[in-house]
Amino acid sequence: MRTLALLGATGSIGASTLDVVARHPQRFRIGALAAHRSVAALADLCVRFRPELAVIADPAHEADLRERLASAGIACRIASGPAALVEAAVDPSFDTVVAAIVGAAGLESTLAAARAGKRVLLANKEAIVMAGGLLLAAVHEGGGDLLPLDSEHNAVFQCLPGAREGLAAAGVRRILLTASGGPFRGCRAADLADVTPERACAHPKWRMGRKISVDSATLMNKGLEVIEAHWLFDAPAERIEVVVHPQSVVHSLVDYIDGSVLAQLGNPDMRTAIAHALAWPARIEAGVAPLDLLALARLEFEAPDRATFRCLDLAYGALAAGGSATTVLNAANEEAVAAFLEERLPFLAIPETIERCLAAVDAPAASHLAGVLDVDLTARRQARRIIAHLSG
Ligand code: NAD
Ligand code: MG
Repeated sequence: MRTLALLGATGSIGASTLDVVARHPQRFRIGALAAHRSVAALADLCVRFRPELAVIADPAHEADLRERLASAGIACRIASGPAALVEAAVDPSFDTVVAAIVGAAGLESTLAAARAGKRVLLANKEAIVMAGGLLLAAVHEGGGDLLPLDSEHNAVFQCLPGAREGLAAAGVRRILLTASGGPFRGCRAADLADVTPERACAHPKWRMGRKISVDSATLMNKGLEVIEAHWLFDAPAERIEVVVHPQSVVHSLVDYIDGSVLAQLGNPDMRTAIAHALAWPARIEAGVAPLDLLALARLEFEAPDRATFRCLDLAYGALAAGGSATTVLNAANEEAVAAFLEERLPFLAIPETIERCLAAVDAPAASHLAGVLDVDLTARRQARRIIAHLSG
């Protein structure tokens, strides 16, 4: 029996995780549920899954949560604030931590879970983009596992059975990350000038939170995933390629030197990756329909349009620059996406903001969390100035 701390329980990954967990009550138990501000949704989940601990990250909502749980007759521990996320992540009563918070807000709890030797199921890609070196060191120190929930990385993980000695020793030539192309595949810059948040969030294949939906529309999601793959698989940037595949059925591929290419296929449904990582190395039912190849008929692949969707190359550039450049990239992107979602910044100004921020902020390597948070804060301040300038 595995006991889970699910951080980001009220989000899209949270819901898919709970769906898989509910199918296997004899295998998984919910120990802790955490959310940001959605008290009503969190309280409902507590009624359904009976955790030992409920965490609301925004302390302003703690009293409301207490009231709701008391009136529902739920007697679990209740905590609030960012420190409570870390406490849930390291609590010895839980062996598995699902890192499903969006953005930099998930970094500290993810690092703490890794250092505590948990099995960490990583959806929170921003954490590994901000502080990949620290996260891997924490996993090493804690002696636990870091398993990817991101569908592409989960696919690559499944296609790399012998890679413990490193990619070169395993005979890997390239990792090929697939990208759906997002809602604006085929568009040119001129078509994207007045894109609204609604259109950017209308992803053709995946239902996800709004931040990652915008990242998919700019292709920054794939840029973040290149950086994520670099850390997870110890792969140099030149061995990681991106190919657009609109059907989102081939989740990624590994190309070996003998000419073999292994791919993982499946319907676009995050429950497959979640079930895989939850039960690894076993396989369990995920509630996902079997893939119907005949109904699908064809799989298409094309090169990404790097001139229109500049975020991809900005991410490769930050990875090549080293130091804390990917921390700056992430911070500027989070600020720009938030401004776009609040209709304070045009869609095409997202890459512009990130590019200017990368050029303006000094990003030395950070060997501890405080250093990463310092770069993150500096980059956010700079990004806000750039956003004010670009939108003014
Ligand atoms: P979402 O917006 O649907 O959910 C985010 C969750 O994080 C919510 O439970 C929210 O309460 C919580 N949260 C937000 N800010 C917080 C804070 N400051 N403190 C504590 N909790 C906070 O997002 P999502 O689509 O579920 O994505 C979550 C993460 O998983 C992201 O990093 C995303 O890139 C990654 N991911 C998502 C998908 C997907 O299909 N949704 C696929 C791959 C990777
Ligand atoms: Mg992905």
